[in-house]
Amino acid sequence: MKVFKFGGASVKDASAVKNVSNIISSFGNEQLVVVVSAMGKTTNALEEIWKAFLKEGKDSLEALRLLEKLKLEHLDIASELFEGNLPDSILEEFAHLRSFIASRKVLNEQFIYDQIVSKGEMISTKIVSEYLNRNELLNNWLDVRDCIFTNRNFREGIVDWDRTEKQLSAAYKNCEKDIVITQGFLGGTAEGMTTTLGREGSDYSAAIFAYCLNAEDLTIWKDVPGVLSADPRKFTRAQLINKLSYQQAMQMTYHGAKVIHHKTIKPLFEKAIPLIVRSFSDLEKPGTVICPKSKGTGRKNGNSEMPPFIVHLNGLAMLRITRKNALPFSENDLASIYVAMGNTYNHAHFSLREADAFLLLVDYQEFRIQSLSQVLEEHFVIQVIERDCDLLTVHDQDIVLPDFLASKRQWMNLKTGKLEQTVFY
Ligand code: ASP
Ligand code: MG
Repeated sequence: MKVFKFGGASVKDASAVKNVSNIISSFGNEQLVVVVSAMGKTTNALEEIWKAFLKEGKDSLEALRLLEKLKLEHLDIASELFEGNLPDSILEEFAHLRSFIASRKVLNEQFIYDQIVSKGEMISTKIVSEYLNRNELLNNWLDVRDCIFTNRNFREGIVDWDRTEKQLSAAYKNCEKDIVITQGFLGGTAEGMTTTLGREGSDYSAAIFAYCLNAEDLTIWKDVPGVLSADPRKFTRAQLINKLSYQQAMQMTYHGAKVIHHKTIKPLFEKAIPLIVRSFSDLEKPGTVICPKSKGTGRKNGNSEMPPFIVHLNGLAMLRITRKNALPFSENDLASIYVAMGNTYNHAHFSLREADAFLLLVDYQEFRIQSLSQVLEEHFVIQVIERDCDLLTVHDQDIVLPDFLASKRQWMNLKTGKLEQTVFY
């Protein structure tokens, strides 16, 4: 059994969905679990609806206007695919979202986020599943919220692996068709609430399926020819990497390479399931294979060397943490700060210790920074001293700074062996 993951770009319009159907059909009688993301930029559009709803609550005309726009875009795609004969299930999802918005009080903002934003995958998978069914690719539509269980950390549910493994294999056994279509990015709590796994989390969903079902391999179909040494939209010298070990791939995603979601590799690594990243538009190209290190390719012959890569992150905030009583920082202070970071799901991309302060570069997500401040407020003061920082990580190459970085100021720089990190603001 193979797991496929199709991201937003691969289902962005009717011809893209037809292309997905052609790819699936080219795998003949294989058993496939197909994990699908929301169409195109739907998740961003749903985030805007959520923001509008937070501002004005259930009377938000803006939320309803944006919802109507998103609905029309989906109906356009659906009517092209189904020649006007629209499946009710798609309209029902929109009606459900509309009544959710119109009846809800804004209580837990992050809970509401997951209920609204999850609709993108619910709708896209219904469209894809229906299209395949109508074109003789008979499939089961599986509700992933009954398979992948998470805690109640809305917006980045943490997977309950024991429960997920049991439920997921049981649910898969009940699917009688060779093709199963399911949602990326979503999970459910034990109480039946919808959660999401973090932006761009569909790759991770696919890895969870591959792990729990002991898949032969996982293929992520993308709009790029595979894993590149840099984001080709930002750096002109991006080159295809044919092969990576899990450790190398983890190193790239750890530094923020967006080509694969950073949580994807670990479950695959644990069961030595190969990951193939390849183009959905150029089917001749084999893409990148990420697999265990092959034997006999140790450092001596150079094959296990990390290939050169560049990762650029933006939208980062620099936090300055000081003690309330102005004493110098102790190791115990650092320990409590890191525990609080972990508990509030903040990730430090870069850090610097000074005598009386600790600087941490994190994603600028206000709600996470706020929870960090709350947890630490008894002993520490947290200030956001810059909110528009970039981090450039370069491994083993000389680069000319692209314009969007050359216009910023370099703030901190760290070089360790072949790896160089620079913070800009
Ligand atoms: N649709 C979600 C997002 O755009 C998940 C994903 O695409 O992986 O973040
Ligand atoms: Mg996406």
